[in-house]
Amino acid sequence: MAEEKKTARKKIQAGDLMNRIMADYFYGLNEAATTGKRKVAWCTSVGPAELLRTMGFAVHFPENHGAMLGATRMSTDLIPEANAIGYSPDICSYLTADIGSYIKGITPLSKAYKGIESVPKPDVLVYNTNQCRDVQDWFAWYSRKLGVPSIGVTSPKNVNDVTDAHIDDVARQIEALVPALEEISGSKLDMERLRETVSLSRECTELWKKVLETATAAPAPLTFFDGTIHMGPAVVLRGTPEAIDYYKVLLAELEQRIRDGVGAVDEEEARIYWEGMPVWGRLRQHSELFATLKANVIASTYCSSWIFPAFDGRDPFRSMAKAYLELFIVRSDAYKERYIREMLAKFRIDGIIYHDAKTCPYNSNSRYGMPQRLEAATGIPGLVISGDLNDLRCVSDEQTKTNVEAFIEQIAEGR
Ligand code: SF4
Repeated sequence: MAEEKKTARKKIQAGDLMNRIMADYFYGLNEAATTGKRKVAWCTSVGPAELLRTMGFAVHFPENHGAMLGATRMSTDLIPEANAIGYSPDICSYLTADIGSYIKGITPLSKAYKGIESVPKPDVLVYNTNQCRDVQDWFAWYSRKLGVPSIGVTSPKNVNDVTDAHIDDVARQIEALVPALEEISGSKLDMERLRETVSLSRECTELWKKVLETATAAPAPLTFFDGTIHMGPAVVLRGTPEAIDYYKVLLAELEQRIRDGVGAVDEEEARIYWEGMPVWGRLRQHSELFATLKANVIASTYCSSWIFPAFDGRDPFRSMAKAYLELFIVRSDAYKERYIREMLAKFRIDGIIYHDAKTCPYNSNSRYGMPQRLEAATGIPGLVISGDLNDLRCVSDEQTKTNVEAFIEQIAEGR
């Protein structure tokens, strides 16, 4: 059994800059909503944010708010509020926590940012079902509650190869949103600006990819747990120069760590891949658990999902459609297995953690034999941990700890 000693991962200095950028973003949203100077659009995480930004909307991402509810451990008490009005405890706990927070009239934003009292009231809700159906149901609730339109894209799922037919379908659906958005925003879409925004998203994506790929170095200069925090600008500010400027700073710091031979975790011995969502309310505990065992969780499907190589300012609608379709969560198991095998080789992974999140089957890839198939094909062992992104009632800390300790021991013995 490993020695009981808490080891924290090393602080990333750029984090202070990120906190300022994120604060500016949230204050900007709040100002838009409270003064009416700009219209507010809510958008799903891989919805058409580039289009909304180009059309002058301040863009709020409810999933980001859901993650904040999880990370602040507010969600477990709020989920029952949504359950009480008919939203099952088995569906997305971002959805139930977020709706619960609305019903109760509380938000972590007011604790983090003085003067912000609530999430920004939307003028329009824009979804893409590329990730799941829950986002459409989530926005439908707010649409009924607040009397604002909910519009979006219905995406194919379980896609093996993304074909022209898929791209045509989704590109047409994105273009079809324009007249309604023009009416709400009161201004015409400027195609030149859309090209610029898509190009900025592309640049952001390339830098974020470089940031994550610094972890191919041994020791790795960052962890998955850092990644879940530092992906904030890539999630809420893609398509802006602020996100790009931030990732240049972060990348420089991580490259310096590599030159200095500094790892995010002292004495890195085991290199772990995380498949699935983080347990937001346990980021610190999980980070300490792995670091104490001299294991670094260095790569993940989740953080890499904000890499969109398809964005191309020369062909904005089709390239947005392609980017939103190429997302891991949209793809078939055959594609996902190829993708993970490439990641295992690129990051020289010793073991895989599969987080089976009770309320998100879409991000839980351990239910149809994938761990067994990947282990047979690569010889790299996997461990499934049961938990949830936000509902801590589904998380067993003791069991996770015991299983992870045994798993890291097994990797050490197999070396
Ligand atoms: S993908 Fe999962 S976590 Fe994300 S919105 Fe859908 S159900 Fe919720």
